[in-house]
Amino acid sequence: MRYPQTFIDDLKRQADIVRVVQDYVQLKKKGANWMACCPFHKEKTPSFSVSPAKEIFYCFGCHKGGSVFNFVMEIERVAFPEAIKLVAEKSGVPLPVMVDDSRFQARRQESEEVIELNKWALEWWEQQLESSGEARIARDYLIRREITDETIKTFRLGYAPDSWDALSSHLRQKGATQDQIERSGLVVKKEGGTSVYDRFRGRLMFPVMDIQGKSIAFGGRTLKDEDAKYINSPETAAYIKGRNLFGLNLTRDEIRRAGFVILVEGFLDLIVPYQFGIRNVAASLGTALTPDQVKLLGRFARKVVVNYDGDKAGVQAAKKAIEILLAEDLEVKILVLPDGADPDDFLKKAGANEYHRRRGEAQPHIQFVIDQAVGDRKLTNPADKEAAIDEVLPYIRAVRSRIQKREYFDIAMDSLRISDATMRRELWQSIRGSDGGRRVAVTTTTRSQHNPTVAEQQLLELLLSDEALRRALLVKLEPEDYLGLATAPVFQALIDGEREGTTIDFDYLSQKLEGDPVADLLPGLLMSDAGTDEKPSDGGQLAAQRCVDALRLMNVDRRINDLRSEIAAAERNGDTELRDRLSTEHLGLARRRSAMLPKTEALRTGS
Ligand SMILES: [Zn+2]
Repeated sequence: MRYPQTFIDDLKRQADIVRVVQDYVQLKKKGANWMACCPFHKEKTPSFSVSPAKEIFYCFGCHKGGSVFNFVMEIERVAFPEAIKLVAEKSGVPLPVMVDDSRFQARRQESEEVIELNKWALEWWEQQLESSGEARIARDYLIRREITDETIKTFRLGYAPDSWDALSSHLRQKGATQDQIERSGLVVKKEGGTSVYDRFRGRLMFPVMDIQGKSIAFGGRTLKDEDAKYINSPETAAYIKGRNLFGLNLTRDEIRRAGFVILVEGFLDLIVPYQFGIRNVAASLGTALTPDQVKLLGRFARKVVVNYDGDKAGVQAAKKAIEILLAEDLEVKILVLPDGADPDDFLKKAGANEYHRRRGEAQPHIQFVIDQAVGDRKLTNPADKEAAIDEVLPYIRAVRSRIQKREYFDIAMDSLRISDATMRRELWQSIRGSDGGRRVAVTTTTRSQHNPTVAEQQLLELLLSDEALRRALLVKLEPEDYLGLATAPVFQALIDGEREGTTIDFDYLSQKLEGDPVADLLPGLLMSDAGTDEKPSDGGQLAAQRCVDALRLMNVDRRINDLRSEIAAAERNGDTELRDRLSTEHLGLARRRSAMLPKTEALRTGS
């Protein structure tokens, strides 16, 4: 069941953000806004403000901000539907009958049923592990692996008896229907027949929890000498492979606190470090790391130490993981433990301190990739060298920050002993950006997570606060004025909005920028004029023009900087022809730059 979209839209218009926030925070009127000490961070002087006109809140201290729904989600720690319900109640808007979105509904209900059956199965398996005679083999195994009772309880390990129907009978006894049991993935349908049998038999059970701690799937480890060491739940209404990370429900807070996450592969690779007190860990589990998993991880930390097995398969998996992590703009280091050890073995042998020490020395991803590529190859052999280059370049191409990309590129070229200038230049061209030559390359790769510059921020603030100015100025902007900026999507959204004739407000912009990290800047940009009600006599025209000039100057500066390093490289490599050509270009830009200077110097920020 869902609330109808029309109701949500209406509620957005009707809900009084001041009234809702006031239930939680003592607000005081100040100018057009309301202020208070922020409920989301500790402070003595109020920097939390609510704008009824813009229908947003924003804290100038911790930069949290957004709509009334965001506020309720944040302060009540609830999901969107629950926030809607709360806002409607607080605003005295009657809740409508939920939409009978039948497919959504059916899937939702099925998912809840699977989770319920999983819960029954897990509780039963836990009991079996604790007390059944047959489970001795599992208990012995855990003792051998030095897993404590406390750890068993924390991770809710269980034992599935070696029986074809013990679990299904138990589930039926609890009231599950045959259909529900079949849909749960806990049983396997016999080929061609209608009868089913228990999927997990005679296995040590590891439940996979979602981020809220609900058991959505299982991995079962054999305790005998079977081919399939692990078998796993199939996909069900509650479980889609590659969307979850094992352990994250227990480790998320520690990951946030530590500022980085150690990514491991298997159940025990997470459980054992956890038992050793290393708790900023998540496990990708068997299958290759997916973009969904990385997005989930990125919510808790932007730095990742990949600690996969040291064997050949582990190294391959680590390389694959690097690509996915880089594509999501995470910083990646690789920890390879000696003698192909996995974290489990290593910790038991060497202890937590030694593990921490090694982790502190984890290699930046590029060094790892280069070492792997060079391996046994002889760089004096051209074919070997080419193969090594081919292997390394994709990992540099995947880096999103252009500065880092260049840095990694130079490291790689030096490590692979590529000194020929033309070749270096060609290789750089091949990875710096896709088709379309220089301009595209510059614009697609300079967009980084860097904070906006002062000029860029001021310009956006002016554009957002003044409709007339927006109309006048947006048409004069050239794409290259903003395409290279961190906030390019905001400019684009403004231009699109103007063209479509939409009302440009928080609601519109946050929809346009959904999923883009730059959307987090919106409340701050919109609230910038809080407290300053008077407008300059020219409507901010002059200030806006100065910002545009400053941005154009920064653009030229960036290109000059690029040229400088390219000239230096040409010089190093003795390519005088190239050097002279680049120098001429440099001179032209330098002239242009000084022509721009007098009017913009005051506003130039960053570089
Ligand atoms: Zn705050």
